[in-house]
Amino acid sequence: MLVIRWALENYPDLLMPSGFNLNGVVLIDLAAKAGYMGEVVFVDTGYHFPQTLQTRDRLKERYPQLRFVTLSAGLEEEPWGEERYRSDPDGCCAVRKVAPLRDYLALKRPSALLNARSRDQASTRAFLGFLEEGERLRINPLAYWTREQLEAYAREHDLPVNPLYASGFLSIGCWPCTRAVRPGEDARAGRWEGKGKTECGLWMGEKAL
Ligand code: SF4
Repeated sequence: MLVIRWALENYPDLLMPSGFNLNGVVLIDLAAKAGYMGEVVFVDTGYHFPQTLQTRDRLKERYPQLRFVTLSAGLEEEPWGEERYRSDPDGCCAVRKVAPLRDYLALKRPSALLNARSRDQASTRAFLGFLEEGERLRINPLAYWTREQLEAYAREHDLPVNPLYASGFLSIGCWPCTRAVRPGEDARAGRWEGKGKTECGLWMGEKAL
């Protein structure tokens, strides 16, 4: 909570991107309680599980003081003539996920982003800190939270967690690129399995402060 309060005082124009995973739901609740009244920005790739969209709608109802913004690449059809996530997942993420958010951030120009990632989500996030520099500062208030702490917080506050979480979908992205994780796996082990990819590309090339 201290990190969020510091962020709100120092970066009043910050934005919060969210995919409404467990981390995101906890961060939304903490931020709302700390006084955040800004935007929660979600990118609808066209491939989300219906449960994810329902989770967004439940959050919207629960936090009327927040502005939920849904972005879309507006791709009704695959201009490549096939399901691109099979042959070119990097390209698919680039047009469906990264580009809409990048364009929106270029328009809004927030000085900082409030981000829900945590160290124990994946080995690739093991060195995550509270602050990361990049195109704009990213503030990670949950960096040191464990999954057990997040689950306990969600239970205690009766948060609207995506129902797929209870079925082993500990990190939930698009349905073609997400599976339930097995016991002992990282939370993000079910993302892009067999596709040689661990991140959508949004947060690559930035470094911890
Ligand atoms: S996660 Fe998969 S389906 Fe979603 S944008 Fe990326 S490659 Fe495409």
